[in-house]
Amino acid sequence: MPKIERKEYVCIFCEGKFLSGDWMGCAGNKFRRHQVEPVTYHSKHDNHVICCTKEATVLNPTTGESQKIPGYQAQFVNGHYTTSDPEVQEVLNRILAEGGLVSLDAYVDSKLTDHQKAERAKGQLAEQSELLKKVQQENERLKAQIGEEKNGNGDEPSAAAIPGQGSLSGRRQVRA
Ligand SMILES: [Zn+2]
Repeated sequence: MPKIERKEYVCIFCEGKFLSGDWMGCAGNKFRRHQVEPVTYHSKHDNHVICCTKEATVLNPTTGESQKIPGYQAQFVNGHYTTSDPEVQEVLNRILAEGGLVSLDAYVDSKLTDHQKAERAKGQLAEQSELLKKVQQENERLKAQIGEEKNGNGDEPSAAAIPGQGSLSGRRQVRA
């Protein structure tokens, strides 16, 4: 049997280090769960409920009676669920990796209508052509500048060489 790597965490509450599986014992209290940085998960199903830990039966050492520990369920609200519980995060990370949950991008995408998607694509296209226009304008400006410099050198003995004449007409002739 390959040994499963246990992830090491640092609790954001007691700042103690603990390994995956050692969920209890926060700040020395064996009934208190450690906490980690909250992570938000996304589901395409608005009110998705995921059973993260199963109901367990333990023997109460004091009374000697069996006691039920309820399972934990992650309840998504409008497709979102945030948790700082590392055990729940491990379960949800696995489900995410298996495709049962989605990334934020995929979530947003799933919520857009076809019309909105088309509008978004149009918007991106407009943005791109706007950018292209700016680049082209900048290129033109640079070309013009270079042309002007060439003109200034007077290596083209043309009408542009008339002293004091606006360089604009001269440049056009040089570049034609
Ligand atoms: Zn802790």
